[in-house]
Amino acid sequence: MTGITVENIRALAQETINPHTNAPFGRNIRGVAVVDGRVAVDVVTGYPVDRHRQDLIGALETTLLGTDGVSAVTVEVSQQIASHEVQGGLAPLEGVKNIIAVASGKGGVGKSTVAVNLAFALQAQGASVGLLDADIYGPSLPRMLGLTGPPKTPKENVIEPISIEGVQAMSIGVLVDTNQAMIWRGPMATQALQQMLSQTAWHDLDYLILDLPPGTGDIQLTLAQRIPVSGVVTVTTPQAVAVDDVRRAVAMFNKVNIPILGVIENMSTFVCPCCQEETAIFGEGGGQQIASEMALDLLGQIPLNTTLGRSTDTGASLVQSEPESVVGQRFIEVATKVAARLAEQQHNRQVRMPKIKIVE
Ligand code: ADP
Repeated sequence: MTGITVENIRALAQETINPHTNAPFGRNIRGVAVVDGRVAVDVVTGYPVDRHRQDLIGALETTLLGTDGVSAVTVEVSQQIASHEVQGGLAPLEGVKNIIAVASGKGGVGKSTVAVNLAFALQAQGASVGLLDADIYGPSLPRMLGLTGPPKTPKENVIEPISIEGVQAMSIGVLVDTNQAMIWRGPMATQALQQMLSQTAWHDLDYLILDLPPGTGDIQLTLAQRIPVSGVVTVTTPQAVAVDDVRRAVAMFNKVNIPILGVIENMSTFVCPCCQEETAIFGEGGGQQIASEMALDLLGQIPLNTTLGRSTDTGASLVQSEPESVVGQRFIEVATKVAARLAEQQHNRQVRMPKIKIVE
């Protein structure tokens, strides 16, 4: 009756498309067992999926239950987050598996809002996460998460991160007087930022989300050369004027060999707070156009949302306070894609260097 074997079930499972990466499961399929038409598959992802396991189970069940001779399918999903390569032979930071930088070509596009919510979204998916606010011109964590200093310094040159609901956070805003820092020259600013990064005692982080200062000037370039970053996401708004800023940011990260994981479009649509209907008030396709022009992935679109806007003044991220809302869910989806994209890099080196056309 059944001609199914472990080998053909393994091949089918490996070819099935993982909805988080849009690529075949491939080597994420580990154990496969077949007994009398009953199939068991073990999946190990390189990114956190606590809330989205069912997506993977569903995709594999659909493929395998549609195969002649398969009567039942059991899928186990677990996660193993690895440390990924960093640029220029830099040494990885102690206690941190991966630094993911969040960058933007200019201020005001919601870079910090995205960074904070990405951190809590990765935590919601089961990762151990830190958040470092290096935006010397407008540190956001003190306001967005109610972070106050000074932090504990258990010994000389060691700064304890401040735990916000389990996310290990540090901000340049709790270490220096930012009114003074605003007028620092580039070398002073980069030195202070680097010192904060290396002296903070991060504890066993899968991901450290780094909120970079906006723009592509000397400070940003120096940080991009000296901080061991596994990948960067750029944040933009849908307006056409943002294209040049993204292009400059992409050129800078290419120059220092930091892989760009993709683009997040913020304030792209409007979700009505009453009926949750989503409207593309600036027209559709802006973020996609930017991403395609630069051969990058559009990782997701975050709606313009009054609760999200207000949440940055209330000391709690929206993902913490409303994880089930449309916007909360969107952040968790985007964070999963970011981490899944990073997990793919070990075996997909093409992602490391997107080709771009620089038009001066
Ligand atoms: P940046 O870090 O790029 O300077 P911020 O994250 O500080 O930007 O955001 C700028 C302002 O826009 C903040 O007041 C924030 O609350 C608001 N904001 C950001 N994203 C959204 C959004 N999707 N919907 C509504 N308000 C937003």
